[in-house]
Amino acid sequence: MSSPSAKRQRTEHASITRSNIWYRDGSVVLQTESTQFRVHWGLLSQHSPFFRDLENIPQPPDEPTIDGCPIVELQDSAVDVEHLLTALYDPTFLSQTALPLAIVGALIRLGRKYDFKNLLDSAVARLTFQNPTTLEEYDNLIADGNYNLTRITSYPGYALDLLTLARENNLGLVLPVAYYRALICDPLQLLEGTKMSGEKLASLSVDDLYRCLIGRQKLVTKQYQPGYTLGWLREWPYTDCRNPEGCGAKRKLKFHSYMDRNTVKAFVMVPSEQRAIPGICATCHQHVTESINEGRKKMWEELPGFFDLPPWNELKNDL
Ligand SMILES: [Zn+2]
Repeated sequence: MSSPSAKRQRTEHASITRSNIWYRDGSVVLQTESTQFRVHWGLLSQHSPFFRDLENIPQPPDEPTIDGCPIVELQDSAVDVEHLLTALYDPTFLSQTALPLAIVGALIRLGRKYDFKNLLDSAVARLTFQNPTTLEEYDNLIADGNYNLTRITSYPGYALDLLTLARENNLGLVLPVAYYRALICDPLQLLEGTKMSGEKLASLSVDDLYRCLIGRQKLVTKQYQPGYTLGWLREWPYTDCRNPEGCGAKRKLKFHSYMDRNTVKAFVMVPSEQRAIPGICATCHQHVTESINEGRKKMWEELPGFFDLPPWNELKNDL
């Protein structure tokens, strides 16, 4: 946990504004950037040992107050603090199925810093749900070949921002899928950052960009190795095909179309592959099904290593 800095003093700002979170019976004023929030010690202390300790520090008599409330200055973004306080005061806030990533990020950053354990756990659970550690859980997120975001609101650049959030907060268990979801973006998008109407929305750190691009190259190479997801496209070890010429031609066509597009298909699923190779004979189809199912398990086991991460059983969230 990073060491938080909060102090009971007031810095003079040119213009200080009051947030809408301003309870007339509040007992403490939080100030960050140029925004003040009047809230209750009791609520902060109930959820955060950090604020419990801070409340118990005697207030020097000459410290400034607002309507008798001590002022606690925080070094966080006002938007993050507003999200945290909304989550504390509004019981329906966290029960929403999907939350914007900015809110999840605020709960993780401030949850770690000030030890709001319950808020932190709920936010990390959303990220873990969307970035699971087992292939079975990952497959449950896929419908008709598309990855479904249900716990976090999607937007262009989401995958890049999520990866950055997970990296900055040491969420090791989230990282393998976070890297994978980022690297299957268009490489040009990775390099230039996600843009919308000319405005830059999201981009990666140089280190993450490197890991994504190198990881992408490793994944594409590995997926065609024997025993991996698409190894059967490159080498066909079976001899029981009823129509070797026809099936062979179809496999070859498929191989070239994937190679030409340099596509990442590490976790392609059998149903979509069935549609991708229409007309292949039943015997070959059975081999393809088994090969893909076994191959994607191997890819999953090795997924963290593509990004220079420790194996699955050594990964952990460092909260
Ligand atoms: Zn065949």
